[in-house]
Amino acid sequence: MAPNSTTFDSVSPTVPPPESKRYKYEIVWIKVIFFAYLHVGAVYGLYLLVTEAKWPTWLWWFALLWISSQGTGAGAHRLWCHRTYKAKLPLRILLAFYQTITFQKDIYDWCRDHRIHHKYSDTDSDPHNASRGFFYSHIGWLLIKKQEEVTSKGKKLDLSDLEADPVVMFQRKYYWYLAPVIAFLMPAAVPWYFWNERFEVSWYVCNMFRYFLTLHATCLVNSAAHIFGTRPYDKNILPTQNLFVSLISNGEGFHNYHHAFPWDYKAAELGSYFGNWSTAFIDLMAKIGWAYDLKSVSATMVAKRAMRAGDGSWKFDTRNEKAVWGWDDKNMDKSDIKMAEVTYRTSSPKMAPNSTTFDSVSPTVPSPETKRSKIEIVWKKVIFFAYLHIGAIYGLYLLVTEAKWATWLWWYVIMLVSTQGTGAGVHRLWCHRTYKAKLPLRILLAFYQTITFQKDIYDWCRDHRVHHKYSDTDSDPHNASRGFFYSHMGWLMCKKQEEVTSKGKKLDLSDLEADPVVMFQRKYYWYLAPVIAFLMPATVPWYFWNERFEVSWYVCNMLRYFLTLHGTCLVNSAAHIFGTRPYDKNILPTQNLWVSYITNGEGFHNYHHAFPWDYKAAELGSYYGNWSTAFIDLMAKIGWAYDLKSVSAKMVAKRALRTGDGSWKFDTANDKAVWGWDDKNMDENDIKMAEVTYRGESKSG
Ligand SMILES: [Zn+2]
Ligand SMILES: [Zn+2]
Ligand SMILES: [Zn+2]
Ligand SMILES: [Zn+2]
Repeated sequence: MAPNSTTFDSVSPTVPPPESKRYKYEIVWIKVIFFAYLHVGAVYGLYLLVTEAKWPTWLWWFALLWISSQGTGAGAHRLWCHRTYKAKLPLRILLAFYQTITFQKDIYDWCRDHRIHHKYSDTDSDPHNASRGFFYSHIGWLLIKKQEEVTSKGKKLDLSDLEADPVVMFQRKYYWYLAPVIAFLMPAAVPWYFWNERFEVSWYVCNMFRYFLTLHATCLVNSAAHIFGTRPYDKNILPTQNLFVSLISNGEGFHNYHHAFPWDYKAAELGSYFGNWSTAFIDLMAKIGWAYDLKSVSATMVAKRAMRAGDGSWKFDTRNEKAVWGWDDKNMDKSDIKMAEVTYRTSSPKMAPNSTTFDSVSPTVPSPETKRSKIEIVWKKVIFFAYLHIGAIYGLYLLVTEAKWATWLWWYVIMLVSTQGTGAGVHRLWCHRTYKAKLPLRILLAFYQTITFQKDIYDWCRDHRVHHKYSDTDSDPHNASRGFFYSHMGWLMCKKQEEVTSKGKKLDLSDLEADPVVMFQRKYYWYLAPVIAFLMPATVPWYFWNERFEVSWYVCNMLRYFLTLHGTCLVNSAAHIFGTRPYDKNILPTQNLWVSYITNGEGFHNYHHAFPWDYKAAELGSYYGNWSTAFIDLMAKIGWAYDLKSVSAKMVAKRALRTGDGSWKFDTANDKAVWGWDDKNMDENDIKMAEVTYRGESKSG
């Protein structure tokens, strides 16, 4: 079921702000007199209870209090108003009986008012708007004519579920016959009839004093639990966590939680019944089969909400809270230390993350069944790649049998700078804009990228942005759902698909067009590429250390190009097919360490598609399998790179919890696998947080 939004967002703009209008209160004097009598009577009741009441009267008085709070908490509030669980007829009759004892309006009226309270919380449409102060929200609102804004909102609410419940409608229809008998006559008559209590004692103890207590308990939820306490789940709303109110109301004081998750039958995060007997009652009813469909919020969802909107007071384990005074405190969590981002950052960049899930797929993309452009093979490219592969094998042979050591070195350097040109350059700088680079670095990276001979920067970025926006659909240039070969190399030997071209034309590439380095490279690409990508790499060994030109050509061009090309291609194929999906299980890209080694850091691809604006293109803090990050960090140190964007650990955690496949770990490098319960490596927090039902031994801690 969809949780109600209970933040100020849900306030209708037609509600006038407090400044524009003075409140008119029409005091209902009959209610004032009734409540005055109640309070005087309650004091007298307390006096009689202490001085005169028999012990069965004490017991009866307490039983009435108890079942009254169940009628409100488990009944009107959690069952009928919020529909947090379902109840069979006998339980509904029982709870309606209990609720009638409370004399707090009939169930239907109570639920309507309370639903308004949740939807328009602490605005003028809220029956007990706590922003008008303690007295108004506590009991003042009960002494006046209902405000017009409240009445009009109430009429717009859907109450059809209540109208469909015969128990609710029966109670409503006969309320003014039922209430006097059940709420006042019965409680006072029982002690008088069964154990000869004086009727006056019975009346003031079991009615006036009892009603006084249950009424104020409910009222404190509206006043104190909207004013005093912490807001661990949502700091943007007034409701608070208030243990005192919970103890008095048997579980309705965890009110910040309740407004954040009004559909949780526990009305609290707690697993225990401490201060929450209404939850115990519902669980008992569930065990005997009278209650069912108990809705509860998952720990993950609570964690997400608390991290996103809480005031910071939320803890997994509130009872074993280990406060830390700061860095180096011995209690500091080891994971926290590892997760901390400590850099030389001067300013924290703000940028909107690109959405890269399937949500961003335009509905105009035809589904595979309806239409698919035909694959047209471009034979010229097939012949080129055939020559490349034969040449690469020959290059490997020459490298091993004949090449000088200087040629080995040169071959390796060319490969290294090529991967920087792709990884740090065209991919992380120009395509994803994960950091900014000064002119010398841009020229250097454009030079490196030209060596790779993988299209000019502009073309590369357009294709790759299409790939991210329409990942693994027919609009993706290397759609991995067409299989390994197509996504790896097949797409390079075909005419570009119409779906891809049309999406590419719609992309905003103005940032690339504004970069003179990119446009210069594009303009002169077919002059630059032959010289930089092939002539230069082959000439250097021949000219400087008299390598045979044939060796130089096949090693430093064919073999080298073969390797860097397949490195890039593996990101599109293997890293979309083989591996885990810790950050988003709904997309094809995977974490593939092997691909990361080959590409110097582009194989953490599930992460990269989830957070394409992270300059590390990975969660790792280390450079392990990610030399492109080391290169960017080095450039940042000499001042050529700046504004390095990186995802916060919290954001990573949130995403992994929400959409990951479960393989995500805080600390992937030092992953401590656990075989099961009682493993010595098991996290202490995990043990404390574990939900253990039907415990055989007493709880520790
Ligand atoms: Zn509520
Ligand atoms: Zn409230
Ligand atoms: Zn990318
Ligand atoms: Zn990809």
